[in-house]
Amino acid sequence: MLDRRILLTSVASLFGLAAFRWFKATPARAGQKAAEKFEIEKTDAEWRAQLTPQQYDILRKQGTERRWSSPLLKEHRKGTFACAGCDLPLFASETKFESGTGWPSFYRPLENAVGTTEDRTLGIVRTEVHCRRCGGHLGHVFDDGPKPTGLRYCMDGYALVFHPADPSPS
Ligand SMILES: [Zn+2]
Repeated sequence: MLDRRILLTSVASLFGLAAFRWFKATPARAGQKAAEKFEIEKTDAEWRAQLTPQQYDILRKQGTERRWSSPLLKEHRKGTFACAGCDLPLFASETKFESGTGWPSFYRPLENAVGTTEDRTLGIVRTEVHCRRCGGHLGHVFDDGPKPTGLRYCMDGYALVFHPADPSPS
């Protein structure tokens, strides 16, 4: 026969352990992606060595570039905008539009390219956008974009690199 007290104690400790595990597994909020796992993960020192200071500030520290500072605002060729951290293709030039915000804007990312988190910094709720492969911060997405999606992916140009579809048209 099982002693009822022992049984209850065991159940209680099991429950406690489960609750503890759940707590540990819950990722941090407010744009903290430290608990999330990404396909490409590097140490802080490796990212610092690979990226320019500005790219590092945006991609790894959730920084924001100065408005109108990105050369990609004037990029109108056909091609692909990729992650400056891991070169994953993120946006097609066909989805880029002039938002007038001073940041490169797109109405749709490529398939399986970006992930999002809730960002509660600045006292407002925004949707943070990051590269799904390396976790690099790219910008935010807002719901005041043009057709067909109505979305505005407001990106930091320095988090992106442009690859022309045809680098040498003849
Ligand atoms: Zn990336």
